[in-house]
Amino acid sequence: MESLVIVGTGLAGYTLARAFRKLDRTTPLVLVTADDGHFYSKPMLSNALARGKAPAELVTTPGELMAAELDATLMARTPVEAIDTATRRLHTARGEIAYSRLVLALGARPIRPPLAGDGAEAVLAVNSLDDYARFHAALQGAAHVAILGPGLIGCEFANDLLASGRRVTVIGPDRRPLGRLLPPAAGEALQATLGAAGVEWRLGTVAERVEREGAGYRVSLADGSTITVDRVLSAVGLQPETGLARAAGLAVNRGIRVDAALSTSETDVYALGDCAEVDGQVRPYVLPLMEQAKVLAAVLAGGAERLAYPVMPVVVKTPAHPVVVVPPAPGRAGTWSVAAGPDGVRAEFRDAGVLAGFALTGAATAARQALVKELAAAAAAPA
Ligand code: FAD
Repeated sequence: MESLVIVGTGLAGYTLARAFRKLDRTTPLVLVTADDGHFYSKPMLSNALARGKAPAELVTTPGELMAAELDATLMARTPVEAIDTATRRLHTARGEIAYSRLVLALGARPIRPPLAGDGAEAVLAVNSLDDYARFHAALQGAAHVAILGPGLIGCEFANDLLASGRRVTVIGPDRRPLGRLLPPAAGEALQATLGAAGVEWRLGTVAERVEREGAGYRVSLADGSTITVDRVLSAVGLQPETGLARAAGLAVNRGIRVDAALSTSETDVYALGDCAEVDGQVRPYVLPLMEQAKVLAAVLAGGAERLAYPVMPVVVKTPAHPVVVVPPAPGRAGTWSVAAGPDGVRAEFRDAGVLAGFALTGAATAARQALVKELAAAAAAPA
């Protein structure tokens, strides 16, 4: 009998399953996941401390209820070890699973920075509920945390740890936080306000060694300095989960390559979410995966829909100084113009007057809707 198997029950897998069930109530649906299959909103992992949330409180719907709601079979704690596209079977430690159509919603894994020292293995990273439970436990009694990586997730955790009453030092090679996402003036505004709120920045350098010292750690930096902290959190980036797909012979670049129908190089195998690369781009955020899920559900139900992203702002959850950005497309011509006031920065990226991206910080984030509207109108205008 025809069956749809989705591997992965993060936001991508579950959003797709829900959208698919709205269109097709009868095809047997199997959800296979390495974790316990509980539904949670991953963005909450980096603002849960300030809200005093324990890991279990982040679960909005337990796996069994999700399965019942979706009329699906949930195979939790069942990591897929291999995909055989010739026989249409998944190999798992619990036996084989047959599929007619397969969706990979495998997410991404944290990149481990190259670190020497006997404390390197104890460096934490948070990209799942299980990770968050370990992080939450490790923070008990911890007063000072070093964060490796001044990017989006590093800055969000810095703000959250500060709000939970801890001291925070952020270390990274960039000259400013969010260096890859923001024009310099906006990064500087975030750096100054988080700094005023208590974040200690060690930018322009990297951590090289982490050694155990008492109950904490000594972190040695490339600039010759050292800091002593209670815990070290790495937030240096994520890498799409591509190992299974690569081993199965699917086309893989940075992510699993898919077209505008979310179809991989293999017939009846699809991918979406953090593991997928659509038209050469991995977009590891919630809005893109929701658009992908909408299109893929329609495709799986027999439709001819194709992905065309709307304007999708990236919101950085740093309440001390909020940030909203729509980065210009890679290679897009244009220049930034910046209006910086005491309460925030408004930066617009324009090409011959036409808006092609923006970055807003602090009180200037109030302009978000107007700029999104202008960008959408510019994208819809004939070239
Ligand atoms: P995941 O949630 O990682 O799910 C992957 C699933 O695949 C899991 O169920 C896993 O168990 C399963 N899996 C993996 N390998 C196997 C295997 N071999 N066999 C079986 N199962 C497997 N985005 C925003 O837009 N806004 C935000 O504010 C925001 N904040 C964030 C804060 C943090 C701390 C983090 C880490 C990310 C944040 N993001 C945010 C990004 C966003 O959360 C992700 O893009 C999104 O959750 C990815 O969902 P996913 O389902 O693709 O991957």
